[in-house]
Amino acid sequence: MLERVACAYCGDTSTEWDHLRPLVDKQRPTGYISEIRNLVPACGKCNQSKGNKAWRTWMFSDARLSPKRRGVADIDARAARIVASIASDLLRARSPHRREPREAWSTRRSAYGTPLRPSPSTRRRASTPQPH
Ligand SMILES: [Zn+2]
Repeated sequence: MLERVACAYCGDTSTEWDHLRPLVDKQRPTGYISEIRNLVPACGKCNQSKGNKAWRTWMFSDARLSPKRRGVADIDARAARIVASIASDLLRARSPHRREPREAWSTRRSAYGTPLRPSPSTRRRASTPQPH
């Protein structure tokens, strides 16, 4: 049985992997690539709403379906968790051992906790990376 994974942004059940930082901004590559460090579990609503926006600005914006607009209660804690995750990724990137162990994906998935409530409409889960 697949574990349930919470969306990093709002805590709903995640269905996909989202690029935390966009790969392309204003038609220029940002330097971020589709690697594990740049992917977070996300639900469809968040992924759709966020698009190419900077994640933090978007989370606290009034964009349609943004976490703030949807009244996510622990939005500050969630943003802090993403910041902490980025910081630890940067530390790890300095290490000479850059190879990601197989377990990295499951660690990554569990880093944001389990969903607050089950989402019956969820079929696809973030069990495999499916970046857009
Ligand atoms: Zn979400």
